[in-house]
Formats: sequence, structure tokens, C-alpha cells
Amino acid sequence: MRIVLLGAPGSGKGTQAQRLIVRHGVPQVSTGDLLRAAVAAGTELGRRAKATMDAGKLVDDETMLGIIRARLAAPDAARGFILDGFPRTRVQADGLDALLAELAQPLDAVVLLDVDREQLLRRLTGRRTCRSCGRVFNVYSAPPSVPPPCNGQCTTPDLFQRPDDSEATIGKRLEVYAAATEPLVEYYGARGLLRTIDAEGDIDTVAARLDAALDAARPARS
Ligand code: ADP
Repeated sequence: MRIVLLGAPGSGKGTQAQRLIVRHGVPQVSTGDLLRAAVAAGTELGRRAKATMDAGKLVDDETMLGIIRARLAAPDAARGFILDGFPRTRVQADGLDALLAELAQPLDAVVLLDVDREQLLRRLTGRRTCRSCGRVFNVYSAPPSVPPPCNGQCTTPDLFQRPDDSEATIGKRLEVYAAATEPLVEYYGARGLLRTIDAEGDIDTVAARLDAALDAARPARS
């Protein structure tokens, strides 16, 4: 299964991708996670990307295409992948198309996770990650339970807010999404690949809608 998850920051792509890994046995390829790992490791890429990310802007297309090309060449991506956060521009979408044609691995579906702006703001401003176990919580809608739900990996959740989840930066990210990424809805729609799901509601409800959309997408390619 080769899938692109499309949607604004905070639309739940990462959360749903985690579920799809289990269901389809293919890796999640999150460019945001790959960049954050580079920042944490202090690599040359990480040093270059950090300021751009913290400002809510996009890392340049050439760099992103290089990252994706390398990641999709890894053995675990041979059976499929879930792209989360990529492509984010028209140039990236064209580059992905060319790469997948080269690999003879066309996309099966692009799913748009649709969430209204007010809900996005709540999700993004409330998002916290646990430094110890890596889980993502939301101070408004999904605070950590007591005891913490991580099977003893951490005794007390040590929550931090992503630097780009500050209120000032969130506005910029939503603006960049509307300008650079939203046009991809039409791009993939015109190719008959797009499925749109209502991504508001609890995680399980959205997951069920996503599964139904992907099941419906399957016969189209056989
Ligand atoms: P979000 O929660 O906003 O969807 P991500 O975790 O996917 O955020 O990405 C965080 C940041 O990493 C982005 O705001 C951007 O600076 C950078 N980034 C991630 N993916 C891409 C991409 N495909 N192209 C350019 N920049 C990217």
C-alpha cells in the first residue's frame, strides 16, 4: 500500500499514520520526524533546517526530495509506505511522481484529512510530547492519564511543546499550508487519486473513516 496523507498541520496525519503502520505493515515516512531527528542529532541538515522549521516555513524542495529519495530506497519501504507531511508543494509532488515512476511504484491513494481551522488551532496549541516516552498528548482533549499510559517507560510524563507549536508560528504554518500545500488537493483530485475524509471526532472514528476510504481506493487500481 502506497499512501499519501494530506492535511493541514494538526489534522492528525501522524496519529493516523501510526495506526496504518500496524494495519498495513508498511512504514510511516514523516518528513517532519526525519527533520526533527536531524535537528536532534545535530547534523548539517539539522542545523540548516532548524531555523526554517521554528519559523513555520518550508525547508527547500531540493533538500526534501533528497531526503525522500534516500528514505524510499531503504528496504522496509519496498512493500509500501505512508507518506506523512510530504509532498507539501507542487514541486515536491512532481518530484515524487517522477521518483515513483522510476521505481515503478505508483501511489494507491491520497487521503485528505479535513479539519476546520478552529479545531486545528485547539489541537496545535494544546499539543504536548512526552520527553521520556515520545507519546503525543493534548492538554485540552487528551491529557496523560494517571498512571501514564506507557507501560512504565516513564513514571511521570515530562511534557514539552514543540517549538513550532507556539501561537505565533502556528498562524504562519497554517498560512503556508493554504498557499503551498492546499493546491495539491486539486492536483491529486484531477488524477482521481484523492479521497477526502472528515478528520474531526475521536481517533477511532477517524481511523474507521480512513480505513473505509482506503478500502474503497483499492479496487480502483486492480
Ligand atoms: P505539521 O505538524 O505542521 O504537519 P511536521 O511535523 O510535518 O508538521 O513538519 C514540521 C516542519 O518541518 C514544517 O513546518 C517544515 O518546516 C518542515 N517540513 C516537514 N516536511 C516538509 C516538507 N515536505 N517540505 C518542506 N518542509 C517540511
